[in-house]
Amino acid sequence: MAAIETLERPVRSASQRSPSVEKPSLIGLSREDMGKALRDSGVPERQVKMRVSQLWHWLYVRGVSDFDAMSNVSKDLRDLLSRNFTIARPEIVEDQISNDGTRKWLFRFPARGAGRPVEIETVYIPEEGRGTLCVSSQVGCTLTCSFCHTGTQKLVRNLTAEEILAQLLTARDCLGDFPDRDTPAGAIVPSEGRKITNVVMMGMGEPLYNFEHVKTALLIASDGDGLSLSRRRITLSTSGIVPEIYRTGEEIGVMLAISLHAVRDELRDMLVPINKKYPLKQLIEACRAYPGLSNARRITFEYVMLKDVNDSLEDAKELVRLLKGIPAKINLIPFNPWPGTNYQCSDWEQIEKFADFVNQAGYASPIRTPRGRDILAACGQLKSESERMRKVDRMAFEAMMIVGHGEDDDSDDR
Ligand code: SAH
Ligand code: SF4
Repeated sequence: MAAIETLERPVRSASQRSPSVEKPSLIGLSREDMGKALRDSGVPERQVKMRVSQLWHWLYVRGVSDFDAMSNVSKDLRDLLSRNFTIARPEIVEDQISNDGTRKWLFRFPARGAGRPVEIETVYIPEEGRGTLCVSSQVGCTLTCSFCHTGTQKLVRNLTAEEILAQLLTARDCLGDFPDRDTPAGAIVPSEGRKITNVVMMGMGEPLYNFEHVKTALLIASDGDGLSLSRRRITLSTSGIVPEIYRTGEEIGVMLAISLHAVRDELRDMLVPINKKYPLKQLIEACRAYPGLSNARRITFEYVMLKDVNDSLEDAKELVRLLKGIPAKINLIPFNPWPGTNYQCSDWEQIEKFADFVNQAGYASPIRTPRGRDILAACGQLKSESERMRKVDRMAFEAMMIVGHGEDDDSDDR
């Protein structure tokens, strides 16, 4: 059975956690909204712009989660800020490291209004030369893709921009990925020295059903004076919400991944039911129109390999025909099993045949190495605490699990 290491965490003291959200967070606000929040709490107008810049630096370059750490902000102002706002991180309920180095956190965010606290999972995947954080956008998902574990969980709610960003900030805390002290002239950690170099919106939820919050969070994550992640290193994966694909291109400008999984409407209607609303023709048109595409900026098409369902060479042929003319790469994802599913992963030989065919037609076709399967961190295995397996079920599941193997190439997003 695979080894699972659970670290002795949570590291935060109770006083650093935010027990409720009575106080609004300053994290996840645009500069404009942060300015308004400061003004409303009594910061003099002539100071607002400068204070926003200071706070932006402390929050997103230095990664502080306590107003008292803001050494160039006067004590009076720090007191005013902490009376009115929070910048606390979520509680870390679980912190697991897979035997392949993949790390998964279960974060708990406090209740909002009449709601209950929510728990979500975030996964870090270290690889040679880069590290990818897989971020969630919703608790659960309203869509019901038949091969996806998250899809069996009802939507609890959309995450706020703060909660989306908090996943990145807290993961960077845990990985020691914020600079310890001021670098000359407040320089930002060079991207090659970072542990998290890439972000993929491929955790729980459909990001384009939470468009505004995802947009705000990603614009902050890519802000050059803050977290400074290049938009080319952020990939948003969608099951195909066509109108919001156009908006993503125009308003966010990050890299796009499409959960394609089938090349004929009849089958895609079953695997990815949103296809009934936005069929393949419309989806592919939106992809063709995505701004800025070139050989260096390709759309990733994700294709889960399901034995005897979508893995024939006929499917591969149709895939190549469908994507003709689109700068694309095709990520083949070996199906990750979960308890209760009726699907099986395609045979390895068949996955390779499929990959070779697509590759010979001129498309990069990396096979995504399953990562963190032993801690249920792999694609489609995420689910929040409210619905996690009982421990015994999980042990039985680990025992039956197929060990993943395969090769990845550098152009894979995860
Ligand atoms: N909701 C978004 C993003 C999250 S899912 C989307 O659907 O694109 C990230 C990727 O994992 C998607 O391509 C999804 O289809 C795939 N996936 C879901 N369940 C899976 C499973 N059990 N095995 C392999 N991949 C899976
Ligand atoms: Fe939701 Fe994506 Fe899973 Fe479909 S594959 S159910 S859209 S999380």
